[in-house]
Amino acid sequence: MNNHRAFIQITDEIANYFNFIAQAGFKEFDCSEKTIEMIDKWGKPDVVPVETLAALHAESNNCQRCNLWQNRQTIVFGDGNPHARLVFIGEAPGMDEDRQGLPFVGAAGQLLTRIIQAMKLKREDVYICNIIKCHPPQNRNPLPEEINACAPFLKRQIKAIQPDYICTLGAFATQTILQTDRQISHLRGRFHSYEGIQVMPTFHPAFLLRNPGKKRDVWEDMQKLMRMLAIET
Ligand code: SF4
Repeated sequence: MNNHRAFIQITDEIANYFNFIAQAGFKEFDCSEKTIEMIDKWGKPDVVPVETLAALHAESNNCQRCNLWQNRQTIVFGDGNPHARLVFIGEAPGMDEDRQGLPFVGAAGQLLTRIIQAMKLKREDVYICNIIKCHPPQNRNPLPEEINACAPFLKRQIKAIQPDYICTLGAFATQTILQTDRQISHLRGRFHSYEGIQVMPTFHPAFLLRNPGKKRDVWEDMQKLMRMLAIET
């Protein structure tokens, strides 16, 4: 008898519910596979497949989004640990980099390697790239339209690596990542944020070669990064 009453109660509730949604204007149910699949996803986090660096690199190889492709020998996409906690971002490849297809291999690159070693890391522990992937003629500064054209590669690169820290080297990288026109000397020495990633701006190694007196500032910036990375200073 109890079961019978419970059954009547449930059917009454179902009937009341159908009446309610009919009064609200719903005339029928959509039970298609597509709708069921969509409803099933409600409340679940979106799963966006993360691109691999190799796929991105391959895509960049034929890039002609700005005029710099015309003089390049090689795309200098980036190099290092694809899962690095720390990413160094410089300005643009020089002549040596253009020939070898690797970032920071010339004189400034050798200084960056020594800085990384002084941080008790190896180049293979970190990831190194530039905001511009092709060599600007006569090592001139990158133009705003070139930076804008190349920025999507950099953004997707960072998304693929998902680092904890970024060290921007010099004004162009810093201003591009932080979307500011403030000078590097005002920005360096403290952490900023880029999409939840901590960013430490510092001077470019090429600038240090011309201004060795600034090495002390850079070393202070690197020590702040080391502390965050739990490396003994
Ligand atoms: S600099 Fe960047 S946007 Fe311009 S051609 Fe090279 S890869 Fe493409």
